[in-house]
Formats: sequence, structure tokens, C-alpha cells
Amino acid sequence: MAHITLSHVSKTYPPQRRGGSAVTAVDDVSLTVDRGEVFGIIGYSGAGKSTLVRLINGLEPVTGGSIEVDGTDLVTLPERRLRAVRQGIGMIFQRFNLLRSRTIAGNVAYPLEVAGVPRAERRARVAEMLDFVGLADKADAYPEQLSGGQQQRVGIARALAARPGILLADEATSALDPETTDEVLDLLARVNQELGLTIVVITHEMDVIARIATRVAVMEKGRVVETGDTYDVFTNPQTDTSRRFVRTVVRALPEGDALATLREKTDGRLFTISFSDEGASEARVFGALARAGVDFHLVHGGVDDIQGRVYGLLTIAVRGSDEAVASALAGVGPGVTVQEVAA
Ligand code: ADP
Repeated sequence: MAHITLSHVSKTYPPQRRGGSAVTAVDDVSLTVDRGEVFGIIGYSGAGKSTLVRLINGLEPVTGGSIEVDGTDLVTLPERRLRAVRQGIGMIFQRFNLLRSRTIAGNVAYPLEVAGVPRAERRARVAEMLDFVGLADKADAYPEQLSGGQQQRVGIARALAARPGILLADEATSALDPETTDEVLDLLARVNQELGLTIVVITHEMDVIARIATRVAVMEKGRVVETGDTYDVFTNPQTDTSRRFVRTVVRALPEGDALATLREKTDGRLFTISFSDEGASEARVFGALARAGVDFHLVHGGVDDIQGRVYGLLTIAVRGSDEAVASALAGVGPGVTVQEVAA
């Protein structure tokens, strides 16, 4: 069921100065985010992701198209009603955006104060949220006393305080190291699974998408150039932009000079072997080749975990008679695709 629906959404900013040109930051974007899913939006800097977020939470008006949240059309909504919709959408940011002069508890309480929630109820809710993000013992600390990962967990507690149905995460892990990123992504997964929120994750990092998003839209120059299940986009990207992002996670076949160098160093024929999680594994593929008695070794690639599913993309060099090689490769079993690397 659709939770957020964008139909032909555009946003054009007028020229910044006389003689300048208008910028179309979002260009005819249509997509649907289902209730309860984690939807990823990936693109390079300037692709229009942050603008899209500001349109979805009604902070800026669209210049074309329509946006529906929970069946309510934001475009025609008067400001007063828009505020209510905004309260149903929590946000977290790259720089956490905590109030430095307030304690951790004070930061989480802030949106509840704005919403006019009575004091006793506020305190109970703040305690509940700090407990959920594992920071109950930091209630009286100040943001600067916390690590980046802890500050982002406070950001999440604050975003959830007013019980939104949607959480927008704008580059929420981009300022964090890999280990802390994992912690925050685990927490977002819990927000999705245990609290049932719909989450939209904006990022320029494909491994964030691999870890958390069930579906992904790839943006470039204001447009969505590809949308699909995360696993499908990883294993079978349809556009150059998507392929470039996938390559940052999945070590695909080397190309150009790297491939030429590899050929020089390796004797034997090169094959790419790919498999998904339909019962295939690296061990089974290598086992089959070993039993066939051909000489082979792994020259490139590896096995990745995409949304909890296995995806293997290996390049091997094989030596042996054409016949032996053919019969060895035929024995790798179902679910495995073998392709010779063109000379
Ligand atoms: P991303 O979040 O993917 O990095 P943005 O949405 O920030 O991309 O920006 C998309 C394009 O829109 C960029 O060319 C940017 O310069 C332009 N842009 C964003 N906000 C404004 C604004 N308020 N006024 C004018 N141009 C803007």
C-alpha cells in the first residue's frame, strides 16, 4: 500500500541573480514508497535528493506535479494542515542538528513541547525513546559530550518522539565511521521492524542501500533513472549510473587497463562466475572445478551480502584443454552463470 506517492514532481529554482539561469533540481519524478518499507534514494551530490526530501515533508512547494502522503495531497493543502502532515514525518540529518544548549532529554523533548504535549506525558515519552535508542543514561548530558554515533541516536529519538509514521533520513550516516554507521543502520532497521515506520533513506553510499533499503531509486540530474528491488538493482543494474554505484560495493570485473594488466599476469582463460542465493555458493562452485581436475584460481571479485541475500561475482583464470574446461564449468550447478571474458 502506498504511503508516499510522487507523480511527475518537479522543482525549479528561479535564477539566483540577474542574467543567471533557473535550476531544475527535481525533474519529473514519479515514485511510490509503500507503507512499512525502507526505501532508498541514491545519487551523487547535486542529483536533487535533498530538494526531494524538502518537497516530501512540505518544507517547500513543488513547481509541478503532486505529492500524496497518507492519501493527502500536499500541493493543495493550506499551511495549517500542512503543519499537521509535517508532524507525522520525522527527520534525521547528516550533522545531527541537535541543540547544543539543551540536554539530551531536552533535545528529545523539543518536538513534544512544540506540539503542546503536557509535561508528564513528555517526560514519559522522552524516557521511553532514550531507552529505545540505548541512551537512557545520557539524559542529562549535553550533545558535545557524546560521540557522533550517540548524537545520531539522539537525533533518531527526537525524530520519533512525536510518533511519526514516516522517517526521512538525509545522509544520516555520511558523517560517521563505518562501525558507527553499522550501529545507526541497525537502529534504523529496528525503527522499521519494531515500530513499523516507513523510512526513506537518502544517501550517496551504495553500501548503505545494500544494508537497509528493500527498494531503491537512483537519481541523476534531478531525474530518477532507475527504480527497483535493491537486490535486482545490485545484480542487474540497468543504467550506467547504477552500475557505477554498484561497483563501489560489488567488485565487478576489472575493465580497461586493469583488465589488460590482469591478462598479462595470468595465463589461462578468464571467466566470470556469478550466482545469487538460489542454493549456490563459492564453495560449491570451487568444489565442482576442483573435482573436474582443471587448474584454476580466483583472480578477482568476491561474495557480497545484499539485503541479507548472497551475491557472488568472481573472476577466475582456468587452465586446461578446451574440453576439460568446458566440462568443469558445466558442472558448477544450477543458479550459477558462467561467462568467458572476451579477449
Ligand atoms: P543533492 O541533495 O542530491 O546533493 P540538492 O537537492 O541539494 O542535491 O541540489 C540539486 C540542485 O539544485 C543543485 O544544482 C543545487 O545547486 C540546486 N539547488 C538546491 N537548492 C537550491 C536553492 N534553494 N536555490 C537554488 N538552487 C538550489
